[in-house]
Parts: sequence; C-alpha cells; structure tokens
Amino acid sequence: MSRVCEICGKGKMPCKKVATHSQWVTRRTNKQAEVNLQTATILVDGQEKRVKACTKCIKTINKKTAI
Ligand SMILES: [Zn+2]
Repeated sequence: MSRVCEICGKGKMPCKKVATHSQWVTRRTNKQAEVNLQTATILVDGQEKRVKACTKCIKTINKKTAI
C-alpha cells in the first residue's frame, strides 16, 4: 500500500526500457514504472485530510474544487 495512490489505487505499471546507441534502438527490456505520488491535503466531508495521491488525481481534485 506504500507506493499506491490512495484515491484511484494506481500503482506500478509495466513498460519498456529502450536502450539506444547513437540513433539506433539496440535493446528493449521490460521494467516497472512507478506512479508519481505526492502528499496532498484534500477536503473530505468538510475536514482536511492528508493523503498520498498521484499527480493526476491531485490535478483533477484541484480542477473540481476551483471556483
Ligand atoms: Zn490517483
């Protein structure tokens, strides 16, 4: 639960590491991409709460709570 977004549950995602030599792609290996987690203070039922959320969720919340 440590490296997982507390709002959407997003965690590690599979992706490819692309090794290049000059302009040519020489090797592709599988790797895990970590989610960009930040601590944010959000309003839950009128009370402020600190959560670890991904930047996508923080951006969505800020957009919805904006006047
Ligand atoms: Zn999220």
